[in-house]
Amino acid sequence: MALTREAVELLVQAARAWYFEGDQHGLRDREWMALRFLGRANRFSRTPTALAGFIGATKATASQIVKTLENKSYLVRKPSHEDKRSVVLCVTPQGEKCLSQHDPINHVLNAVTALGNDDCVRLHDSLTRVLNHLDAAHQRLNASTCRDCMFLAERGPAPGRGRTAEFVCRLYRAPIALEETELLCTSFERTRDRPKIDEQPERLRVVSQA
Ligand code: SF4
Repeated sequence: MALTREAVELLVQAARAWYFEGDQHGLRDREWMALRFLGRANRFSRTPTALAGFIGATKATASQIVKTLENKSYLVRKPSHEDKRSVVLCVTPQGEKCLSQHDPINHVLNAVTALGNDDCVRLHDSLTRVLNHLDAAHQRLNASTCRDCMFLAERGPAPGRGRTAEFVCRLYRAPIALEETELLCTSFERTRDRPKIDEQPERLRVVSQA
């Protein structure tokens, strides 16, 4: 029990790197959180609504944060290809540069990298399990990488397009490129056994009728 408490207290101390008073390099902690999320989010989650859910803010607060990031030229709004009435929030090259050079979590990234691969994997898996408990308890809108999502189905390489596997999102009914499977999505649902699209015709039919 003492060890558990110490571990949690260490986690709280580590969180001081990304929750802080005032600003760092011109951005408050929630603005950093928003920019960081939008820099890693997929096209379905780079919306004002998904951003508000992810940072745990009202839409009005999220909208103010978006305006701040736009004013600093770290963010632009573009029309959505998926839904013409919506906008997609895109991090600019200036925003990406700011993240790579000044993001307050960069020090934490370096420290975790120094642990080595095995410890890093253990830390990742342990924190994932802790967050899953917390999300279930608080019903927060969290995000994780598309590659582990139950809605992602793999299909074989398309004819004439090389041997790279292709993917499809069964929730949005949209193709997903290989590089997009590494991005964050707020509609994520965890699974251990992602089905091949051809192996799950009944399940797919149910999803497509939903
Ligand atoms: S497969 Fe899951 S994580 Fe990927 S886009 Fe669809 S809902 Fe989001």
